[in-house]
Amino acid sequence: MPTMMPRRVPDVLAEADRILCLAHREPDGDAYGSLLALRWILEAVGKQVVTGIDGPPDQTYRFLPGYQGVRTPDRIQGSFDLVVIADCSSVDRIGGFQDLEQLKQLPWLVIDHHPTNEQFGTPGLNWVDASCLSTCNLVLQLTEALGWPLSANAKKCLLVGMLTDSLCFRIKGVDQTFMREVMKVMGPDSYDFQYVVSRTLAFITREELQLQSRLLSRMQLDDGVLWVGMTSDQATGPQGERLKTRGIIQRLAEVDEARVAVLFREAEADDGRTEVKCSLRCDPDLDVSRLALDLGGGGHQLAAGCKLAGSLDAVVPEVIARIKDQVLGLPVGGS
Ligand code: 5GP
Ligand code: MN
Repeated sequence: MPTMMPRRVPDVLAEADRILCLAHREPDGDAYGSLLALRWILEAVGKQVVTGIDGPPDQTYRFLPGYQGVRTPDRIQGSFDLVVIADCSSVDRIGGFQDLEQLKQLPWLVIDHHPTNEQFGTPGLNWVDASCLSTCNLVLQLTEALGWPLSANAKKCLLVGMLTDSLCFRIKGVDQTFMREVMKVMGPDSYDFQYVVSRTLAFITREELQLQSRLLSRMQLDDGVLWVGMTSDQATGPQGERLKTRGIIQRLAEVDEARVAVLFREAEADDGRTEVKCSLRCDPDLDVSRLALDLGGGGHQLAAGCKLAGSLDAVVPEVIARIKDQVLGLPVGGS
């Protein structure tokens, strides 16, 4: 069931002149798409907008208008009237922005589609619609509800989120209503549709492809759980850059024998300790979001994630045991 836009949203937006828009760290196409679309939409109605994401950018999305302008928390100056947070299910997803003093007293409007959303925005300003396939669909609905114009730039950004989160129309829930919204952001000649589709879905660097092949050759199948682990040095490219792991979890999830797919990525946490990021995917009759939520993360029924303190050696067996028990319902200790 769709969730209605909270009643106060139009007034809160009308009253704000300077707006800080944020999306989640390790941004995907829906995070960038909804964030940058918000920028173009709000600027078109006369607002001053600053966009922010904590952590390194993802070069994949550099073709999006406004990509260069996205700031990290250390580059935020001045004051704002409102914070709009897109595609984040919990406050930790905005990273260091949650510690900025000048934001603490402001209204926070949360626009999200994760069923695990913790409603961390200002009371009455959480618009969470888990029936929506992407946050970009909600941003489109917001724009239409307010009767605001949609520029070619905004449409391009919205398309990227819709493509990303629907896995290019492949997930359950893609229906005529969704496709009608896709049609609205296509616009006859507002941008090169084909180019945006292929940039969003298909481009990786040579190093990333090599990393994929190295990792995928080591995948392991354990009672329907197909998984691979990577250490932080494997994620480092020839120039010391962080290699993106985009696509790996998708490849694992496509394997016929995989009921649940997991990518474990070891990394150094902000406090210097070792942590493991888990990306979880599952078959349509299963649900990985509950387990992710129990482990301190979140996400969707079929695609969720979490971070756990510890090394691969400690985290992998623990998470696989929990998947077998909680997601697959296998007898504990059995095989
Ligand atoms: P991915 O595996 O692609 O990183 O994430 C899959 C889904 O799970 C996305 O919807 C993402 O927002 C969510 N997700 C991944 N990691 C975390 C996490 O650490 N915390 C929360 N709350 N959600 C996460
Ligand atoms: Mn999303």
